[in-house]
Amino acid sequence: MSFRWQTKKPRRLGYVHGAVVFVLALCHPITSFAQETPGSAFHTVQKGDTLSEIAVRYALSVDQLRRINNLRTDLILEGQRLRLGTDFPPERYTVRTGDTLSEIAERFDVSVRSLRRLNGISGERIYSGQVLKLRQYSEHPEGAEIHVVKRGDTLWSMAHHYGLSVAEIQELNDLRGDTILPEMKLRIRRTVEDGTEVQQQFEYIVKSGDSLSQISQQFDVGLALLRQLNHLRDDRIYPDQRLQLRPSSVDEGIHVVRPEETLSSIALKYHVELSDLMELNGIGGSTIHVGQKLRLRAATTATHIVERGDALWEIARAYRVTVADLERLNDLTSERIYPGQELRLPAGDLEAVADYIVKEGDYLGRIARMHQMSVAELEAMNNLHSAVIYPGDKLKVRPLLQFGREGAETIWTSLTSSLGEIKEFRTGNGPYYQQRPKASLQQNTGYYEGPHGSPLQNYRQARKLWSTFERRVNRVGCLSNTLRGWHIVLDPGHGGLDPGAVVETLDGNGNKVYVVEDEYMYDIALRVYLLLRLHGAKVTLTLLSPNHLVRQSNPPTKTFVNEKNEVFNSHRFSRQNRWRNWPAGGRNGNLSCRVDIARKAFKGIRKTRRIFLSFHADIDPTAPEAPLVLYYERTDGRRQDAVSGRFAKSLLRSLGAGAYARGQSLAVLRDNPAYAKVVLEVRNLAYTDHAWALRFEELRHRDAEKIVRGILSYARRRT
Ligand SMILES: [Zn+2]
Repeated sequence: MSFRWQTKKPRRLGYVHGAVVFVLALCHPITSFAQETPGSAFHTVQKGDTLSEIAVRYALSVDQLRRINNLRTDLILEGQRLRLGTDFPPERYTVRTGDTLSEIAERFDVSVRSLRRLNGISGERIYSGQVLKLRQYSEHPEGAEIHVVKRGDTLWSMAHHYGLSVAEIQELNDLRGDTILPEMKLRIRRTVEDGTEVQQQFEYIVKSGDSLSQISQQFDVGLALLRQLNHLRDDRIYPDQRLQLRPSSVDEGIHVVRPEETLSSIALKYHVELSDLMELNGIGGSTIHVGQKLRLRAATTATHIVERGDALWEIARAYRVTVADLERLNDLTSERIYPGQELRLPAGDLEAVADYIVKEGDYLGRIARMHQMSVAELEAMNNLHSAVIYPGDKLKVRPLLQFGREGAETIWTSLTSSLGEIKEFRTGNGPYYQQRPKASLQQNTGYYEGPHGSPLQNYRQARKLWSTFERRVNRVGCLSNTLRGWHIVLDPGHGGLDPGAVVETLDGNGNKVYVVEDEYMYDIALRVYLLLRLHGAKVTLTLLSPNHLVRQSNPPTKTFVNEKNEVFNSHRFSRQNRWRNWPAGGRNGNLSCRVDIARKAFKGIRKTRRIFLSFHADIDPTAPEAPLVLYYERTDGRRQDAVSGRFAKSLLRSLGAGAYARGQSLAVLRDNPAYAKVVLEVRNLAYTDHAWALRFEELRHRDAEKIVRGILSYARRRT
């Protein structure tokens, strides 16, 4: 009954094209796992080469070359392979005298054939000064497919077939009406598998004998939501009636402004009146900002409109009600909720507002966003007549995202305060220990700081910092014993020489700031580490940093700097001073070290209690703005890790509305000794809002909590 969409393995290296290029990927997060990725560029030293000559040739400084290759002196040897200082495969190369096509192909890890094709060359002839295209970055959204309309096709039959809504197909193809003609080419976006397979289905045709409540059970959609979506006054349905089973993008309650959007394009997209949109969000003129959060529907204090990422447990906690209450009030069949779904809140002594004390550097837009409000709502709730607020001011806010309502936070604060004997640097993007980066923020996509010393020196420093931290963790006690007997390996994605994605985003004042995937994922992994420990789990990290633990980024414009100093949490892998002993990604990467560390950690642990989690942030503009859980599936889709697939799906409810799971062939999950193993794309950095959110420790903590909640409920079901 369900249609399972076979996705082609998408090409994951992408740029967002347009007048405003707002996302730049240094290296796509997933590419470091996938085999087809072009690796980093190398230069093999030729007789007579000097370091300064090589530096000039590749537009690097000698210092950069030295750092990335851990060279103490300028001495290089013939045949030595030098990394070219960037993990980003260049797109073009200017031919130098003496270059040959095959040499260039080898150097940049591409084939001669593709070089010829890309540059319209038939033989070997190239000339000095010629600019060669090295690789083709797709101009088309990844995963987009074309459907050629056949006689008899209708928009509805296509929607049904591809698991989309009619509105989504119309939107993808700029169609105004329902008319489609044979031979017309329509764009169809790949869909994703979320929850259970039946939920793929977007619409359902009522058969005789069906009841609304049975349909709601079958598709894991609350009865109230089914009524809302289909404008039903009561539960009467009739055969052949078409029922919408879950909200489409048009039904969402919130929109975060993306580059090149205008108020009227947004109004059109969601089928709302421009004047309503302006009024709802207190907008007088036509000016909107990228990243601004707009409310698409009015929310009363008696309802909560589910936003992407909201989890039921979190909403319950925010309003101080129980999950069971919410389920009952909204006729939910499970904890699964959807973006745009309206949840009724219990009337009466409900705590629908909370107090918020304005902090240094706060502005209304940020506070509004943090609490899922529009600026207009925030102004109205607080009778504000101007946007000027002062640190210490008390504001009323919606209670969501109240950091620190649970015991864990006090423990958290005490843990990350001074570590005693280890030298500490308090900085806006720290704290750092033993040494700190020179910069206080990531300055551009290319900036990085090389490691001080060899892998072994950094490993020793990292172990010292880690064991001091661990000793403290051992002393804080615990919240539960749910995870006793479980061993969980946390793998912070990237690290070492490989920063993952580095994306540009905007701070609240419209200034550019940059987010480095590996630095932020390390922070989230550490938060997960502590929470898991507090529930009794044994936890091992695959990588360690020599100079930081959890970081506070205050104000969040002090972004984390790309430091290439993380080491494998293993003496064996760190003892030699070779570049390949630093964690690295891409084709020449050493992901198998992470798997080896897991194998060692799992020794003596019951098979079914071994979990492996790798932390990443996606950067895919065609994927939804939501967390993604990936489990192993062979490229041809014919074999998949069913245990991990079930584990992945079980995490979705805790990860919140819009979260989804799918299989992919990922190296770090292959031959991995864990019982349940997944790669978590905690956020999708192709969306301004997600890149924005990562910079706030409150929101990173929220991400960590969701993951741990998911693991806890998985463990509870198994014991
Ligand atoms: Zn990644």
